[in-house]
Amino acid sequence: MKIAETVSELRHLTDLARKSGKKIGFVPTMGALHEGHISLVKKAKRQNPVVVVSIFVNPTQFNDKKDLEKYPRTLEADSKLLAPAGADILFFPSVSEVYPDGQDKGADIDLGGLDKHMEGAFRPGHFKGMAQVVKRLLDIVTPDRLYMGQKDFQQFTIVAHMIRSLGINTQLVVCPIKREHNGLAMSSRNERLSAETRGKAGIINRVMKAVKRDMYSKQVADLEKYAMKRLTVAPFEPEYFSIVDGYTLNPVTDMDKTPYVVACVAVWADGVRLIDNMILRKE
Ligand code: AMP
Repeated sequence: MKIAETVSELRHLTDLARKSGKKIGFVPTMGALHEGHISLVKKAKRQNPVVVVSIFVNPTQFNDKKDLEKYPRTLEADSKLLAPAGADILFFPSVSEVYPDGQDKGADIDLGGLDKHMEGAFRPGHFKGMAQVVKRLLDIVTPDRLYMGQKDFQQFTIVAHMIRSLGINTQLVVCPIKREHNGLAMSSRNERLSAETRGKAGIINRVMKAVKRDMYSKQVADLEKYAMKRLTVAPFEPEYFSIVDGYTLNPVTDMDKTPYVVACVAVWADGVRLIDNMILRKE
């Protein structure tokens, strides 16, 4: 696995791949890698001869400075996981390499209103920064395929919108959520939970499953209320539990008339914010 720290190093390597007609798959990450990330890398490797993985903790998508400071940075361990998973190139740029003209440049991408609800409402500016960095990384890497996780449902929906509306020549491939044994969605942030909380956090998945089971026998508002109540149990504190249209991310009012329905949740525990989702139906 080659490591590129600058845009010109990265471009040199991707140019070589392109000259020999090889397709490039790209997996952007913020590091502190776990099996969820690795499943994306493996999928990318199955579909492309050359896989680029970036590790970049993007400051412009953190609305909370402390969260940015506390974000785990584990480059050595990450590199050890990436090569056997099939990564060919690790792109590990500095902030000035990604934003040579300042962090405000390129932050004005139209998100089609998809950033209004859920994460967007609770993390102001987060998706603006996320779209900005994904656009910049796509400009640098110019991959044939981009791999993102369903774990960040609103994130990949916004990226799909951006790719469509800007006419970016990259196919977005969405990969399923990897979970721990108790159903907790894998996340770099799980490392910051106490062992006890991590053990109990399977409740988030259990509640989503219960909502899916009852989705046709209860009203949407009642399902959301039920989920919020069940998740309000120490040390958990839910921020939202929203049942939304998977295309528009607008709240669902009539389950029967919505072909794509997703339950999205954010829960605080031990000062850590956990997000998860479940597709309730997709026709
Ligand atoms: P992050 O490093 O958190 O920015 O995540 C990088 C990519 O990995 C994103 O596309 C995430 O959606 C994806 N990802 C994170 N956690 C998981 C998971 N548990 N299962 C599958 N993909 C994931």
